[in-house]
Amino acid sequence: MKYVSTRGKAPALNFEEVLLTGLASDGGLYVPEFLPHFTPEEIASWAGLSYPELAVKVMYPFVEDSLSIEEFSAIVNDAYSEFAHSAVAPLKQISANEWVMELFHGPTLAFKDYALQLLGRLVDHFLEKRGQKVAILGATSGDTGSAAIEGCRHSKHVDIFILHPHGRVSEVQRRQMTTITGDNVHNLAVEGNFDDCQRMVKASFGDQAFLDGRPLVAVNSINWARIMAQIVYYFHAGLSVGAPHRSVAFSVPTGNFGDIFAGYLARNMGLPVSQLVIATNRNDVLHRFMSNNQYNLQPLQHTLSPSMDIVVSSNFERLLFDLHGRNGSLLAELMEKMNKEDVAIEEYRWRHARELFDSYAVDDESTLASIDQIYAETEEIVDPHTAIGVKAARACRRDKKAPMVILATAHAAKFPEAVAKAGVEEEPKLPAHMADLFEREERFTVLPNDLQAIQRFVQDQLKK
Ligand SMILES: *Cc1c(COP(=O)(O)O)cnc(C)c1O
Repeated sequence: MKYVSTRGKAPALNFEEVLLTGLASDGGLYVPEFLPHFTPEEIASWAGLSYPELAVKVMYPFVEDSLSIEEFSAIVNDAYSEFAHSAVAPLKQISANEWVMELFHGPTLAFKDYALQLLGRLVDHFLEKRGQKVAILGATSGDTGSAAIEGCRHSKHVDIFILHPHGRVSEVQRRQMTTITGDNVHNLAVEGNFDDCQRMVKASFGDQAFLDGRPLVAVNSINWARIMAQIVYYFHAGLSVGAPHRSVAFSVPTGNFGDIFAGYLARNMGLPVSQLVIATNRNDVLHRFMSNNQYNLQPLQHTLSPSMDIVVSSNFERLLFDLHGRNGSLLAELMEKMNKEDVAIEEYRWRHARELFDSYAVDDESTLASIDQIYAETEEIVDPHTAIGVKAARACRRDKKAPMVILATAHAAKFPEAVAKAGVEEEPKLPAHMADLFEREERFTVLPNDLQAIQRFVQDQLKK
């Protein structure tokens, strides 16, 4: 399987190459040239498989040029062996025909583990074969950093540098990153905000001279392997609630459009999906687009669901590519325009998207009310992102007969302040494998908000 850029000009790559790059050289994102398609009979035959077994079935067509099925199965089994629940992604019913899929049983308690545990091992596998070392550089405002570090900590071939805004991430989130120690793990606390961190990471990808030839790999959701790994749990949920014999709806707390894009791909691969609900907070660029075909950027707002606090939703480009007949030059033009002005797409293309997607934006006040309501109904404590997913699912539901699955993207214990603010008296407890988080030793380096200082630090560490 080859991968092509959404902007049509970069060379096509195979899976190994696409895993080890960031953005395509033409500024686009890589997508598979075509999707594998599974028949209803094939999907039905997967009922009862374990999560890793199902993962191999769903993902192998994407990687078959680069890995034998034995190699891939071993990597997948290893990736999901450290999850704290034997179902890996269990479903819990919260009301009539309504479920949450718990995607917080990985090592760092957010759904990002499902992709990054796999990605870290895949990267390590190919680098071992090549006898090569790389550097990973990323910025985080919360969940990505710890999940990326956990995924790569054991790799002898990777030095990972994660920038976070000093004093501006929650204590649980900071501790999850800074208590992971290892000679190849580098936590940089930058005296600036998240945008400063992200800007310096972008600048470093743009000019890599400071790395003395060491390649740089991206771990944010522009990396195709992350999207690929997320397709699996849509099939897993679907099979659990009756697919392929009946259609399933999903509601997904969304920021960069990575997680929900994986649901869209699952549908195009044969899973009967009747509806995808985009659930956002006040950073609602996607909701405004789905409501009235207007794409315009607005300033960042800080909310109680910080992992969805974004201005530009980067993976949306991958959907726009499909909506424009996979025409790279048409899309390059559109993306150029979107950076400068408010944009609408042609009516028939927008209507096509609306056949599948609905959207809903939830402010902080309603987020808290949703946490409180779900607790009152079920005694389940949900995190603020999941609470937005439930609220949006209930507001947008088209068909009461189709089971609705809400993706629970983080464990509530990551956001205890929001839970308390919602008036839930019970405190969300960290699971056993994290229970001593507040006793563990932290390690991070505080650096000024200055590109040269960051790059000099990276350079020095790589020489060691
Ligand atoms: C990253 C994250 C999201 C948003 O996921 P996208 O793939 O960017 O849409 C939602 N909830 C939580 C808890 C997250 O960590």
